[in-house]
Formats: sequence, structure tokens, C-alpha cells
Amino acid sequence: MTTVGFIGLGIMGGPMAANLVKAGFDVIGYNRSQPAVDKLVGQGGKAAGSVADAVRDADVVITMLPDSPDVEHVALGDDGVLANAKPGLLYIDCSTIKPDTARTVAEQAAKQDVRVLDAPVSGGEQGAIDGALSIMVGGDAEAFDAARDVFDAVGKTVVHVGKAGSGQTVKAANQLIVAGTLELVAESIVFLEAHGVDTDAALSVLGGGLAGSTILERKGPGMLKRQFNPGFRTELHHKDLGIVQAAAREAGVTLPLGAAVSQLVAALVARGDGALDHSALLKLAEELSGRR
Ligand code: NAD
Repeated sequence: MTTVGFIGLGIMGGPMAANLVKAGFDVIGYNRSQPAVDKLVGQGGKAAGSVADAVRDADVVITMLPDSPDVEHVALGDDGVLANAKPGLLYIDCSTIKPDTARTVAEQAAKQDVRVLDAPVSGGEQGAIDGALSIMVGGDAEAFDAARDVFDAVGKTVVHVGKAGSGQTVKAANQLIVAGTLELVAESIVFLEAHGVDTDAALSVLGGGLAGSTILERKGPGMLKRQFNPGFRTELHHKDLGIVQAAAREAGVTLPLGAAVSQLVAALVARGDGALDHSALLKLAEELSGRR
């Protein structure tokens, strides 16, 4: 049986680890706060008391952490993943982080016998629960092939997109599209409500045409009800749009609409709504029209 060490059992990591248990992997989980570990144990996993505990006997290690410094700390730290890896370990980082951090981790791992993939995901909490994530994978093709069974347990659309760091670059584009689309859905709701249109009916017909999208379908109904419990926290999307802007600058390309939406997401965080779902962009759109 393949032993998977899973570090970071939050909104996404928790259900992903549970799906690995269901698929027959021996999963040993570690999280900074204990309740998430207890939950995994209730679902058939094992508890680790530290990163080292989760990694020591693992054939595969997965991290699902908030941000680049978290991954640097857990992967490269003194008692981290690489320090405790057994030879031949396959290390998959599913967090959304800076492409250059992903490349640094891969370079460090190459100095010892550890294969690394950057494999950020899309599909949200529901996609994680359903084992239906889209996973964009950077790294060696051979490591990608070796990870197939693990990816199949948590994802539906799993694509190798290139060398180390490429998964994160594709994920940055994903976050640009998601933020822009969410903002336009939010503005459309404000617009429709201002005209007194039946918004349930409107969203339903919009969903069947060219304006239809997974975002409209999944987020629209909750936005109409002003349900902004995460889901995906706005502060995480703010982090991702910082990654997008830096990567765009590095490549010498301009993202005018991306820059605008990134400022709106920054404003939502600055007004104290960073812990709400990113669909709370609707709150800001209402305020800008004096309708809140
Ligand atoms: P989360 O905050 O719910 O989960 C992160 C978990 O990591 C928490 O349980 C936290 O306690 C734990 N953690 C943090 N530092 C740790 C450490 N040093 N050691 C052990 N555990 C530690 O976040 P999330 O929503 O699950 O997102 C995780 C990553 O996935 C982020 O990079 C995010 O951008 C990305 N992502 C999230 C979604 C989503 O819809 N929530 C979708 C796609 C991608």
C-alpha cells in the first residue's frame, strides 16, 4: 500500500486527504491545528504530530498550504519535507504559490533523490469534496506518470503542462479568469437588481447562453442570497492576484482588466472582508453603485 503524508488539512486539503483514504491509500495527515487532524482520523486516516512524522515513512507527500512562505517553511525548513524525505520520495505541492518558489523547491529536491511536482488545483471546496478537481501539473513527465493514481483519487481533469513552475503559471491564469468573471457576475447582479428584474430567472437564462460559466452556475445563486461563507477566501485570491501581477511584470506583459480587478479584490480585503468568499466582490460592487 502506498503511504501518503498529507500536510495542510484545510478547506481543500481535508477533503482531498479523505478521498485518498477512500481510494485505498494509507494517509497520515498533519495540520497546524489539531481538529483537522482528528477529522481525518475519523475518516480512516492516521495522525501525525509534526511535518517530520508525516514525511518519514511516506512514499508520497502532498502539501496543501496557504502561501509561498508556508511552502518554503514546510518543504525546505530545518525539520521539513526534504530534511525527512526517504530516498525516491515523490513530493507534490498542491498549494497555489509563486512559480519561482515552486522552481526553488524543485531545484533543492533535485540535490537529493526526491521528485517534485507543482500541482495547484481548481474546482473549489465542492470539487475537492467530489474528487473532481482540475489539476495543472509542472515537473518531470516521469514524476507525473508516477503520480497518476494519486491524482486520479482527487482530480478529474489532470494535465501535465510543462516543467517545474509551469503548473503555478497556469494556475495564475486560472485565478485571473476567475476574479475577472466573478467581478462581472457581481456587476451584472447589481445591474439586474437596479432594473427590478427577477434575478433567479435572469441567471438561469444567462447560464444557458454564451455568458454561462461554472462561476455563474456555482456562485450566482449564493450571491443572490448574499451567502459569502467560504469557499475560497478573498484574502487567498488577493494573494493569487499578487502572483499574477508579478509574473506578468516578469514576462513584460500588461493585464489591464486584471489590474483593475486585483485592486477591487485588494479593496475588499482592506475593508475587512478578507475572510469572506471571493464572491463577496458583490458587496463592493453594490457599494460603488450606492446600493448598500
Ligand atoms: P485553508 O486555510 O483552509 O487551509 C490551509 C491549512 O494549512 C489550514 O488548515 C492550516 O492550519 C494549515 N497550515 C498552515 N500552515 C501550516 C504549517 N506550517 N504546517 C501545517 N499546517 C499548516 O486554505 P485552503 O482554502 O484549503 O487553500 C489551500 C491552498 O489551496 C491555497 O494556496 C489556496 O490558494 C489554494 N486553493 C484554494 C481553493 C479554495 O476554493 N479554497 C481552491 C483552489 C486552490
